[in-house]
Amino acid sequence: MLSAPSQDHWLLAVQHTRNRSPATFEQWFPSIQFDGLEGDTLRLTARDEFVRDWVRDHFLPSLLSQLSTLTGQQFKVAWKISTELERPVCAPPAPPSSSLVPAGGGAPQARPIEADSQDWGAVTQARRTSSMPPRRPKLASVPSVSPVAGLNLKYTFDNFIVGPSNELAFAAATASAGSGRPRYNPLFIAGGTGLGKTHLMHAIAHRILQDRPDARIVYVSAELFTNEFIEALQNRRMEEFRARYRSECDVLLLDDIQFLAGREQTQEEFFHTFNTLHDAGVPIIVTSDKYPQQLQRMPERLVSRFKSGLVADVQSPQLETRVAILKKKAQLEDIDLPDTVAVLLAQHVQSNVRELEGALIRLAAKASLSGQAITEELIRGEASLVASTSARIVCVTDIQRAVCSHFRVTSADLLSKDRHKSVAFARQVAMYLCRQRLRSSFPELGRAFGNRDHTTVMSAVRRVENLRKRDPQIDAHLEAIENRLVSSND
Ligand code: ADP
Ligand code: MG
Repeated sequence: MLSAPSQDHWLLAVQHTRNRSPATFEQWFPSIQFDGLEGDTLRLTARDEFVRDWVRDHFLPSLLSQLSTLTGQQFKVAWKISTELERPVCAPPAPPSSSLVPAGGGAPQARPIEADSQDWGAVTQARRTSSMPPRRPKLASVPSVSPVAGLNLKYTFDNFIVGPSNELAFAAATASAGSGRPRYNPLFIAGGTGLGKTHLMHAIAHRILQDRPDARIVYVSAELFTNEFIEALQNRRMEEFRARYRSECDVLLLDDIQFLAGREQTQEEFFHTFNTLHDAGVPIIVTSDKYPQQLQRMPERLVSRFKSGLVADVQSPQLETRVAILKKKAQLEDIDLPDTVAVLLAQHVQSNVRELEGALIRLAAKASLSGQAITEELIRGEASLVASTSARIVCVTDIQRAVCSHFRVTSADLLSKDRHKSVAFARQVAMYLCRQRLRSSFPELGRAFGNRDHTTVMSAVRRVENLRKRDPQIDAHLEAIENRLVSSND
């Protein structure tokens, strides 16, 4: 015999619902208050309409079905809105604990701060007050927040998929998040766009904050550093600026250092900041889309400092890693993605992880708008979804073939050790194009070009890059080869 509906039933239903998605639950229920069960009415108060709608859409079905199982009766819900909640269903989450965030478990260290959406779930520091509703997250995302400006709480080590393309950078990043004087300082993470450099950098910050919540972490893009520097100069606030970056900083994370190219005064300022922190044993982590020695218009003294620590690169992930990344993103975003579909999508989008994610999000949006599941047919039927992310699906052999017919050399020549000028040039162009188009790793390309060393591929790519700056003929060659690639696809 079922007992009369009571607060205990409500608490059991809450417990059940919370267990199904704890992180999301903790995120929303500090903004909900239980006002009682009266007759067939469940009375709830939400801090604002947005919280009400979110909870109604995402949690009420589970809560109500559990309540009805427990009490044998159906309930309707009467909502009130009040910015003042006296007894929220769950108090705001506790400050970060030293335990790790479970994979896919969202952001348990989240404090009640508002999320922004400049990127997929990127965050700002703005604190949420009782009068500020959380902004609507995209898809199933929950607001992710951090006490450090600009950090995305989803960019944790647990959410980072490790594969051959990034294992050194991952190991170095986890090591630099440890306590004590860093073994390698600075850590310089280099690699193409969308390959996880910023993710690793944020993950370092999160790990440090878990262990030492009071650590003064300064995370800044080189662009913001430059802007702040200029502002400080204009407003005569250099002392404040220097204090922030030198004396009040326990860890410096500087993203996209390549932005400093040619900005001599900012470089000078950064050089001194770097030295002060380095001398004090403060960990410095820098990311860049180029290796230190490839950074242009960057003074040698800075380049040599970047090289003095550990340079770890991220390369384009292989298929298996791409599939694992897709599955992790799908899990984080609550997207139902069958394995076969993940593999198909990963085969289509090879360029970089950001584009891979973009394709997944577009497919998920498309599927949800049309009320279907994400299936292989959906991907095949939506060539444009992937076409925009990877203009044309080509492989190394396609590029080699196109280059051979353009320069009238044979594939055997291309893969041979022949150093004859015309063959060597065709080979360099082919390596360059493969690197550009496929973002394959240097070792991978070395293997694909007659088992050459990865340094040979690196210098070939660099040579073509340099030639392009001097010789307009090179771009004409590249364009002609691209045209061949496109037409061979038709
Ligand atoms: P970068 O800074 O190198 O341009 P980001 O760090 O911004 O790239 O990564 C782009 C997107 O790809 C982010 O959403 C990030 O979470 C994701 N990403 C990249 N590499 C991985 C990985 N190995 N595992 C999971 N997500 C990844
Ligand atoms: Mg980045």
